[in-house]
Amino acid sequence: MTKRTGRRRILYLAASLLFTVVTLLIVIGGGGWWVLSHPQTPVPPHWNPLGDLTVTAPVTPVTAYQLRRALGDEAQCRAALSAAGVVFEPMDELVVDQNCGIAGRGLLSGLTTARIEAIETSCTTTLRLALWEHHVVQPAAREILGTDVRALRHVGSYNCRRMRTAQGQDSGWSSHATADAIDIIGLQLGDGRSLTLLTDWDTPGPEAVFLHRIGRGACDWFRVVLGPDYNRLHADHFHLQGPGWGFCR
Ligand SMILES: [Zn+2]
Repeated sequence: MTKRTGRRRILYLAASLLFTVVTLLIVIGGGGWWVLSHPQTPVPPHWNPLGDLTVTAPVTPVTAYQLRRALGDEAQCRAALSAAGVVFEPMDELVVDQNCGIAGRGLLSGLTTARIEAIETSCTTTLRLALWEHHVVQPAAREILGTDVRALRHVGSYNCRRMRTAQGQDSGWSSHATADAIDIIGLQLGDGRSLTLLTDWDTPGPEAVFLHRIGRGACDWFRVVLGPDYNRLHADHFHLQGPGWGFCR
């Protein structure tokens, strides 16, 4: 064997190796896509990045990705809510001006199990609220208080106004101006107890432990969560806001 044919042989081997690797990648990648997108895929929906969000399914590393897609697609958002038994009657989009209005508007009156006094809000706020109720509020109530939550009490979602700060009125528009937030003041429990942030947040006991737990847990599902520990404007409610810069106080 000459030096020249030896080099040619090495080149040939390298090329065939490259070809095999590329073919394998295409087969595995394409096969993976085919397995995930097949209607009878063995991958459970809540583990499947191509699957739609199910509000009541166990939370997996894929859930945040599915949630992002549902938040960006009104039809998918409404379908996820109705599959979870959330009562959110469709309403026409509200357009007031460039600062105020509600996209994906509806009338919310029931979450996955808890009721809520009928309120006009957006699909995205409702979706985050339902996820919080199912994955944080109800499990915490059962674990800490030995009962479930029968109703959430709110003081509004949509409000065409500017932001309020401890120093007075701010120049920016509030997330309430687009119903991207909801204010929760308390809860009614299955055993008849009624909790409010104003009276139970700072009173030592299981009720306070529960309220602190669900306040922290809201940060899993909302980007901005402000409560009694933030400032006096929030002494009596959780401000739960969908879009934002990731701020939990
Ligand atoms: Zn608020």
